[in-house]
Amino acid sequence: MENTFIPFHRPSVGQPEIDGVVAALKAGWLNSGPRAAQFEEEFRSYVRAPFSLAVNSGTAAMHLALAALGVGPGDEVITTSLTFCATVNCIAHIGAKPVLADVRPDCNIDPDSIAEKLSERTRALVPVHFAGLPCDMDAIWRIARKNNLFVIEDAAHAVGSRYHGSPIGAVGAAQSHASDAVAFSFYATKNLTNGEGGMLTAASQELADKARVLSLNGVSRDAWNRYSECGSWYYETAECGFKYNLSDIQTALGIAQLRQQEDFLTTRTAYANFYNEQFSGIEEVEIPSDSANCRHAWHLYVLKLNLGRLTVTRAQFIDALREKGIGASVHFIPIPKHPFFAPYADDQRNHCPRTVEMYPRLVSLPLYPAMSTAEVERVADGVKSVVERHRSTAMAMAV
Ligand SMILES: *Cc1c(COP(=O)(O)O)cnc(C)c1O
Repeated sequence: MENTFIPFHRPSVGQPEIDGVVAALKAGWLNSGPRAAQFEEEFRSYVRAPFSLAVNSGTAAMHLALAALGVGPGDEVITTSLTFCATVNCIAHIGAKPVLADVRPDCNIDPDSIAEKLSERTRALVPVHFAGLPCDMDAIWRIARKNNLFVIEDAAHAVGSRYHGSPIGAVGAAQSHASDAVAFSFYATKNLTNGEGGMLTAASQELADKARVLSLNGVSRDAWNRYSECGSWYYETAECGFKYNLSDIQTALGIAQLRQQEDFLTTRTAYANFYNEQFSGIEEVEIPSDSANCRHAWHLYVLKLNLGRLTVTRAQFIDALREKGIGASVHFIPIPKHPFFAPYADDQRNHCPRTVEMYPRLVSLPLYPAMSTAEVERVADGVKSVVERHRSTAMAMAV
């Protein structure tokens, strides 16, 4: 046991997933069919969204939302500097200009930074619920309302998260959840997975319909039916769309996962609480933020190193964990640090000093329901023993 490596992530794929995929293969409907429709319905109900669209990635969901809302060239979209490149790529792909806001200590986008970065061209805000902890949406919606902006949430980490009792994804369901659309990812490492997949929830039928047409190369159902005298072969491509629909094979996996989400979340929460208990008294590390008004989906457990109290860098810390058979990772390399962002990086507004300052401190620990409690204990012990060994003596003596 001591020698087996604990990877950063292992998916929870059991008999229900295997049975689901086999049944989909036997049913013979391999592209988007009855299972995709069922998944949309079950997910819509789970997050209490008015409309939903299953797609083949979280990136696709985000791209469709921006495109369907008509965001494009000449527009600016404000998002966080601490996210995966996909969030920013989508903004660039539709021809808009990404503008980066800085983060708060909880790693989520700072509404005050958003307010500083607004311009006459700002058209939309894209907050990311980092690690599964909801952003300060009330403040974000207030800015959006005042400036007539769209809000599209990147909920790649936030299946099962709740903001003031309302599930992330429940767009437009109440005045209090005023986003236009929410994009979920079901990538292999996410809380719910199809292998690859995503979901868009939308506040209006119009937006959902538009996104659906765009997800199918711009071919609309109306166009199929318009000239029914031609028989079933006729269709019209109304718009220049994309190919973003989700197959029934992948969907079968997602349906089985969705039905276990609450159990998965219970396990994640218990493990996160255990880590918090183990690390909260240790001065060399800072435990992740949580919020009393929200439900954290615990997609990630991100520890912040207090580097002044340690004799190692974050890279050395991760190497030391690896030597103990523990896989750790980093979320995220800040957007301004990536070469792809270079064309935008010299815009003074994209400077995000707090993100850049925080980045060398971030370490993501393994956290997933397929871990055993013994493995969770081994990770906690591993972290504590690395801290013990690399505690800065100057600090230790001062304490
Ligand atoms: C994973 C992720 C995405 C992209 O999701 P895919 O399904 O891989 O396209 C977008 N944003 C964030 C914050 C993510 O972590």
